[in-house]
Amino acid sequence: MLTVSGLNAWYGPAQALFEVSFMVHSGELVVLQGLNGAGKSTLLQALIGIGPRVQGQIVWDGQPLQSWPAHRRARAGLGFVPEDRRLFTGLTVRENLWIAARSGERGSAADPFDKVLSLFPSLQAMLDRPASQMSGGEQQMLALARTLMTSPRLLLLDEPCEGIAPVLVQAMRNALLALAGEGVTMLVAEQNRILAGHAHRLLQLTSGQMGEHTNGQGAA
Ligand code: ATP
Repeated sequence: MLTVSGLNAWYGPAQALFEVSFMVHSGELVVLQGLNGAGKSTLLQALIGIGPRVQGQIVWDGQPLQSWPAHRRARAGLGFVPEDRRLFTGLTVRENLWIAARSGERGSAADPFDKVLSLFPSLQAMLDRPASQMSGGEQQMLALARTLMTSPRLLLLDEPCEGIAPVLVQAMRNALLALAGEGVTMLVAEQNRILAGHAHRLLQLTSGQMGEHTNGQGAA
């Protein structure tokens, strides 16, 4: 369903990705591993259409989308949760969610709103709180919840469990595994191996090059 072939990416003259090729099949949880600076964020940003200058082929649902702007890729079902969250910190939790719903693929926002609150019940009590008054982990939940409001068919997550309190790591992990269990297709960059043991497949990025693909345990 997602096929990436010969993907190169540059920041100015500096090349960050080198002939990266891989596939993510429908319903898979694929974990992208790599050290700091390996190119994980660059790869996710290249897929979503922001960040580096890119050359190569990205085919999603049979359509080559490498020349599409980011908003068109989002409308086609790609949802991205960046490492830095990019919330509207002056707006409340509810406002952050509803703004996302309006820019989403589907018309009705009612279902995703209920769904994200059932996935993250603790957000219910925070609906009227400004995002700036949430902890880092709570903001990470909101960032995922906001992306889910667009009903993405392919979820791209950049280090979702990095730097957050252990209890919230559990909540995030459980939410992501629940989504995987529902068949949401996911590509997750992580270094801390929170999800790796549950992945259908692991991808290893080293200095911008995709290395050996090892098998996960497929227990999502
Ligand atoms: P981390 O886990 O630390 O975020 P990463 O695997 O996500 O690492 P990237 O952030 O994609 O790695 O970085 C890949 C390479 O691209 C690094 O050499 C980095 O210095 C470089 N790079 C990343 N963003 C930029 C940028 N905006 N401008 C210039 N170079 C960048």
